[in-house]
Amino acid sequence: MIGPGTGLRGSKRVYSHALNEEQKARSILRPAQERAPGQENPDRKPKPAPPGGCAYARPMGEFDLIARYFHRPVRRAALGVGDDCALLAPAAGMQLAVSSDMLVEGRHFFADVYPAHLGHKALAVNLSDLAACGARPLAFTLALALPRADEAWLQGFSEGLLALADEHGCELVGGDTTQGPLNICITVFGEVPAGQAMLRSGARPGDDLWVSGHLGDARLALDALQGEMPVQLPPQVLAQARERLERPTPRVALGQALRGVASSAIDVSDGLVGDLGHILQASGVGARIDTTLAPQLMAACDGHAPEHVPYGWENLLRCVLAGGDDYELLFTAPPGRRAQVEAAARQAATRATCIGAIEAEPGLRLFDAQGRQMDAQYLAFDHFR
Ligand SMILES: [Mg+2]
Repeated sequence: MIGPGTGLRGSKRVYSHALNEEQKARSILRPAQERAPGQENPDRKPKPAPPGGCAYARPMGEFDLIARYFHRPVRRAALGVGDDCALLAPAAGMQLAVSSDMLVEGRHFFADVYPAHLGHKALAVNLSDLAACGARPLAFTLALALPRADEAWLQGFSEGLLALADEHGCELVGGDTTQGPLNICITVFGEVPAGQAMLRSGARPGDDLWVSGHLGDARLALDALQGEMPVQLPPQVLAQARERLERPTPRVALGQALRGVASSAIDVSDGLVGDLGHILQASGVGARIDTTLAPQLMAACDGHAPEHVPYGWENLLRCVLAGGDDYELLFTAPPGRRAQVEAAARQAATRATCIGAIEAEPGLRLFDAQGRQMDAQYLAFDHFR
């Protein structure tokens, strides 16, 4: 069990590991100087003309790239890609919900991540913010810096990105591309009935504290892929955890179903404890969490009893409480609305677990199986610490 001074903290998340030759070949970050002296740069080689046309019979430029991979007709937006601005018209009585998230190689993803997974995640993390407000997705813009116009990479990236966009009826309406270190910035626009957005400031003493889906699996995958796990994960467990890390599911339907039910909400991107801290601060309250629920929250634990948790109890707690990259919804609701919370989760085909309660006394208190308050400190990920 955890005692004082065990130093269990949310360690730094860094997406870096040695690449083998196959991984290097997949990565768009493959440096140009790896070519043999005098060897032609394949990215600058003119592409053969497609049958019946000559659109790509020259090196692909910025506008070709946009036209080929990112230009799609819009149905809901008044005007999409191709003019100086996109035009959006939220329905009468709705407010626009707007959020931006940036993904940087080495900080948010591995250099060899599958481009389709990266496209999915880049939009998923933004949709997760809309979900936390209870907003319905409308449209997004994409600002993309690329080391080079690698068509295989662009094909995979755009497929992953646009498949998730289609799933949520979220239209790509504009953006920018430039050459530079790989960097993906998406701004997403949603709509929510005026005055009904879920905020971080609405938690009240006595409210239940809930979390959707699963926590900690993404961090488990990250640690395993970096060789930081004390034991080797079974391949199937690693594959499932890696799916959670690379292809998170934004809880968009749940967010909308919780409008008028939840008193506050946030999405878990930097770790449960850290993101809960934002609710506690904004609401001027404290909270307690029952840590014995941790094995039920991590999918990789598969319902093991606490004393039989694989990968170690301390690793489990660290991943669940401070892992990050979960993109689940953390929310509060009065105890009288438990049935409504459960109905919202059923309607959204996900699950919601009550993990604790909001208290008037500021601060966060973690309790173990014996009902004792734990001393271990868990920190959320912070990019500048
Ligand atoms: Mg967020």
